[in-house]
Amino acid sequence: MRRAFLRGASLQANDAVAGELKDEFPIFRTHAGSGPLVYLDSAATSQKPLAVLDAMEGVYREACANVHRAIHTLGEEATRRYESARTRTATRLGAASRREVVFTRGTTESINLLARTLGEGFSSGDEIVLSEMEHHANLVPWQQLAARRGLKLRFVPVLDSGELDLAAYERLLGKKTRLVGVTATSNVLGTVNPVRSIADLAHAAGALVLVDAAQYIPRSGAKVTELGADFLAFSAHKHYGPFGIGVLWGREALLEAMPPFMGGGDMISDVTLEGFTANELPWKFEAGTPAIAEAAGLEAALDWLDSVDPDALGGYESELAARLIAAFDEIPGVRVLGRAPGRAGIVAFTVEGVHAHDLAAWLDRSGVAVRAGQHCAHPLSRRFGDGALAVSSARASFAAYSRIADADLLASLVRRAREEA
Ligand code: PLP
Repeated sequence: MRRAFLRGASLQANDAVAGELKDEFPIFRTHAGSGPLVYLDSAATSQKPLAVLDAMEGVYREACANVHRAIHTLGEEATRRYESARTRTATRLGAASRREVVFTRGTTESINLLARTLGEGFSSGDEIVLSEMEHHANLVPWQQLAARRGLKLRFVPVLDSGELDLAAYERLLGKKTRLVGVTATSNVLGTVNPVRSIADLAHAAGALVLVDAAQYIPRSGAKVTELGADFLAFSAHKHYGPFGIGVLWGREALLEAMPPFMGGGDMISDVTLEGFTANELPWKFEAGTPAIAEAAGLEAALDWLDSVDPDALGGYESELAARLIAAFDEIPGVRVLGRAPGRAGIVAFTVEGVHAHDLAAWLDRSGVAVRAGQHCAHPLSRRFGDGALAVSSARASFAAYSRIADADLLASLVRRAREEA
């Protein structure tokens, strides 16, 4: 029988589960490289299990039609599969209604949607509080909005430990704060932020809360109500689902009050030559033909993730990270960015004398895939850099198919790289 990860089980016991689950990911048999693949770049995108690939192919083979418009059986079946993914997502998130789940292309589009709709209602002098550890996806759309609307952006500093300076955060909140936007998990430091407390403080100041859950959803089964968010964004591709689809969840009353995002088919209930009437939620935010096969893939990914216990999986990934960090700490000249307790399975590090890009290219020759650079978080890389010089780091990130041996192999290769530098 297929096993799930177990909370409280030993690292070795969960490693055996990962070994079994790995067989469900075809990439490890069919990838382009010559030797075995050690994929340690799951924070960039996770690999996809067969169940997800089958669900997507199933749409193209059995139900390839456009949604919402067709009267015919095939169109009804495509619509059923597409809308079923929405219901499944709503249940997974603990949403009050499926009307609260808007499909987008991913986290980035979800945040842009919010900036272009909710944000346009902000006035000159209003403030948005973000953090120094945000991914560009939760920075640039607000910078663009601030320039359009004359808003002020304020930033919660990051401490050397990799945690947010929550005392400074409290001081940033005020009457002018309209929105607090924060990542639940840093894609560089692996820090898991105390989103609930951040949200409670924001609400007490009268501000709304956006949670960037791009790195959080795969590692936690938490419900939006527990997080205290008003909006939450994530991408399917980082949690075993396909590229090209993501979610913006928002409280229904807030979404209802927001204007539509893009214009076109499906987001309208009527159009005249003079104007249009917007469709109901959530379709008012979904202009044009959506990613139908990808929605089916997203539903399969949520099923897959829930079947392995996301919280226990998150714990397993954190333990792999702790093991890797312990090994790195034994290698002189290796520096791990951020030391927050309870970190996720994400470890960014530098190796003295070896540039991160050279290291990544060298690791790749041994079949080990890691990410290198600034991880779409330039301000954070500057914060952990040398003066104005941003730090370029390598990053290992774990997922359900990651093994103890993967972490150990990386540590031994990094030791060699350091010794030969
Ligand atoms: N936010 C965080 C924390 C991320 O790690 C990422 C991707 O790495 C994003 C946002 C953007 O996600 P996407 O490129 O899927 O829109």
